[in-house]
Amino acid sequence: MRTCDRDMKNTDRRSRLRLLIFALAWVTAGLMPQPADAQNSKISWDSRRAFEYLKKICEIGPRVSGTGGMVAQRKMIIDHFRQFDCEIRAQAFDVAHPQTGLPVRMTNLVISFDPTAKNRVLLACHYDTRPFPDRDRTRPRGPFIGANDGASGVALFMEMAHQLKTIRPRYGADFVMFDGEELVYSAQDKYFIGSEYFAKWYRDEPPEYQYVCGVVVDMVADKNLALFIEKNSWKMAPKVTQSIWTTARRMRVKEFISKEKYEVRDDHLALNQIAGIPTTDIIDFDYPYWHTTRDTPRSCSATSLSKVGRVLLQWLTEVPIEPRSK
Ligand SMILES: [Zn+2]
Repeated sequence: MRTCDRDMKNTDRRSRLRLLIFALAWVTAGLMPQPADAQNSKISWDSRRAFEYLKKICEIGPRVSGTGGMVAQRKMIIDHFRQFDCEIRAQAFDVAHPQTGLPVRMTNLVISFDPTAKNRVLLACHYDTRPFPDRDRTRPRGPFIGANDGASGVALFMEMAHQLKTIRPRYGADFVMFDGEELVYSAQDKYFIGSEYFAKWYRDEPPEYQYVCGVVVDMVADKNLALFIEKNSWKMAPKVTQSIWTTARRMRVKEFISKEKYEVRDDHLALNQIAGIPTTDIIDFDYPYWHTTRDTPRSCSATSLSKVGRVLLQWLTEVPIEPRSK
């Protein structure tokens, strides 16, 4: 993903007002008696297992689109999800490599739980890693493992899958893993190839189901987790954003901070703007090892992953958003 500094100072007034109303509601909610499910949440989570998934993904090494590392990771993911009662689809297409012009095979993965449900929630992450850690001061051409920026979202979904059968999600749930989020060697190279392809497919060949809303997770395993509200999410998908941060508040997960901070360009833009699926981006953009060789499991935390996973599982049982009538 990338930031959009240009607009960072220019938060529009409507957005601020919405945030103020939300903040008031949020404070009030904290003073109210808590529903039983928030205090004695039945949501379970195996922190150690989830973190093992993150480490196992990183042991593959770099997972750049079109490389052997990516193929190995894809096989691992598919093997993992085969143990569950879900449908696994691959959406494959070719793009020209930004440097050589040769075709690169891209593959988005769509893993559907309760696949016959007509109303669904989209949970997405990217699973490719950036070719180089170009923000690394000493080794900008060193290895990039992408423990937080890449593996964290995949590991989160791998563990969530274990828990889905014991909770009752309000809607069908799709884990969508995008390829080609950052097959990027220089500033002009194209980001978000996988999510744009997916969003165009959804718009141009609408399936029989609809996504009521969506969530993108990116960099959710940072040791010092701080999840501020991302500005584009707040502008484009305020209800979804508010509902997740409210669930976190009820569960007393303080790492979800209901203040706007960064404006980030990420896979959620295509989902909002092309597919018309209101989608929020849960992203920790204060990660000090972003695009460096130190984005490894040592910079990540099982507890952080667990906090995000538990909030999302609880939220899936509620999703206070109604389907649009077609
Ligand atoms: Zn990145």
